[in-house]
Amino acid sequence: MSKHVRKKLGKNDKAKDARGTLRRLWNYLSEMKVILYLVILMVFISSAAALFGPFLVGKAIDEYIVTKETSGLIGLVIGLVAVYIFHSLSVWFQNYWMIGVAQDTVYRLRKDLFHQLHQLSIPFFDKRKHGELMSRVTNDIDNVSATLNSSFIQIISSVLTLAGTVSIMLWLSPLLTLITLTIVPLMALGMKWITKRTGRLFKQYQQNIGELNGYIEETISGHSIIKTFSREDTAIKDFGEKNQRLRTAAYWADTYSGFIPKLMNVLNNLSFAVIAGVGGIFALNGMITIGVIVIFAEYARQFTRPLNELANQYNTLLSAIAGAERVFQILDEEEEAKDEGDAVEIDSVEGKVEFQHVSFSYEKGDQTLQDVSFTITPGETVALVGPTGAGKTTITNLLSRFYELNEGTIEIDDQNIQTIKRKSLRQQMGFVLQDSFLFQGTIADNIRYGRLEAGDEEVREAAKLANAHSFIEKMPEGYDTMLRHDGSGISQGQKQLLSIARAILSNPSILILDEATSSIDTITELKIQEALKRLMKGRTSVVVAHRLNTIRQADQILVLDQGRIIERGSHNELLKQRGFYHGLYHSQLKESG
Ligand code: ADP
Repeated sequence: MSKHVRKKLGKNDKAKDARGTLRRLWNYLSEMKVILYLVILMVFISSAAALFGPFLVGKAIDEYIVTKETSGLIGLVIGLVAVYIFHSLSVWFQNYWMIGVAQDTVYRLRKDLFHQLHQLSIPFFDKRKHGELMSRVTNDIDNVSATLNSSFIQIISSVLTLAGTVSIMLWLSPLLTLITLTIVPLMALGMKWITKRTGRLFKQYQQNIGELNGYIEETISGHSIIKTFSREDTAIKDFGEKNQRLRTAAYWADTYSGFIPKLMNVLNNLSFAVIAGVGGIFALNGMITIGVIVIFAEYARQFTRPLNELANQYNTLLSAIAGAERVFQILDEEEEAKDEGDAVEIDSVEGKVEFQHVSFSYEKGDQTLQDVSFTITPGETVALVGPTGAGKTTITNLLSRFYELNEGTIEIDDQNIQTIKRKSLRQQMGFVLQDSFLFQGTIADNIRYGRLEAGDEEVREAAKLANAHSFIEKMPEGYDTMLRHDGSGISQGQKQLLSIARAILSNPSILILDEATSSIDTITELKIQEALKRLMKGRTSVVVAHRLNTIRQADQILVLDQGRIIERGSHNELLKQRGFYHGLYHSQLKESG
């Protein structure tokens, strides 16, 4: 696309409080205040030099060429060369320093943002789309960086150049200035006429390119589905249509926007003709000198450029401010509440867990948990069962203090968990969740995430206990095999074995398990069951249970429905009651065949 097409502003491109955002951005910039002032000084020098050059040419004509005074002329030409060298040097320095300021500023912004992301509470992340957060850390910051790099200098220099040219022109000949400036409204009208059309075309172009990119992404990530359904031809045909639409839109958008520089050129030439003609008449009447005509002609050429640039920079600047505002919004988010001043660290716990009349709601108004009470003695396994949305995961969220309860107390070893430092509390716990989180790194690194200081031998031991050793050994590079963060390359079941190994290595007193519901082949399933049994042995375990096996072997089963415990007891006791659990169990038995 031509760079002359101005970016249309979307709804995300407008800052709510542009002034406040600029002030905060200034706070970031001002850490490099000295260099920034140097940049501004250089912009002053380069703008002044750009104004001074034509002025000297005019002077040369009037004072030396017309009077045929060669020696003065040579001196002036040397002066002119010096002015232009000064101009180039100052432009070079301002760019060089500004790059430093911009990169340093966004470096600090990125650092603060990343730091802040790790201080934020789980509720913050639960409420937001991950893609959107990623976009703030990457795109929005990039946008700020690019704008600082280019727009900052351009805006100052454009304003200075405009003010400077108009002032000198007015000083030299107010009348000729007025006549020259008549070209400005003409230029504005022409621009408006074109941008109205290009704006529409550009929007279409954006829409089409969005559709095409989305389609490409969809077909690449879903290529195996396309092949299984033999839909290659349809895909190619659909793509062809979208591609065609994009071509048409881009063609017209480019064609129209290509008019902008042409129009500018015509108007520039027109203003030159006006200055030459009217200026000529004035000169014949002795109102101005020939040198002044030359200065005017040169200035007229100079001031359409900053006008154009200011117009171009305006939208870029607005969307960068909006981006900066979104970054600041995250920086303003409340961090996970600090631990109470007298909160303590705990070294090791027996693993007694007690919920006393716990009530909780995520949103005001709907009760997620109501009056939940239960006690787990150290080493016991408690299975939480019940329909989806009953509140099982919420119980584990409160136990690990990802969320804070509203009423009641939760105690570990008879100590209220609110008096324990969060980090210390979580260190006593191990998590094996449905979505086993793997990051880019070797298998050994992924297991070691459970306890960073563990040696190779301990990692192997843990893997053996987790039944993961044999499949790891079969991988091309064993424990050094690289994994990607999406875990592609290993199966769902193997991912779970790795996260069990990780939990074994971290050796927690309290385990929180969220069993996977996804189907896994029988052999791996057996391996997982066996590994889990080893992991849970001697530890207090809270299991969000889906598998009959775990449920049957649990010391205590809590049946939840709509945030309340409606039945409790061992598997056999509950079956005898012939209540909710009885029904749930039999329907599951039927499903699992
Ligand atoms: P379960 O694990 O039994 O399926 P959950 O504990 O996840 O149930 O959810 C209990 C209720 O709380 C559901 O109605 C669910 O929609 C709601 N809920 C869960 N997480 C959140 C959250 N982060 N914000 C708001 N509501 C939530």
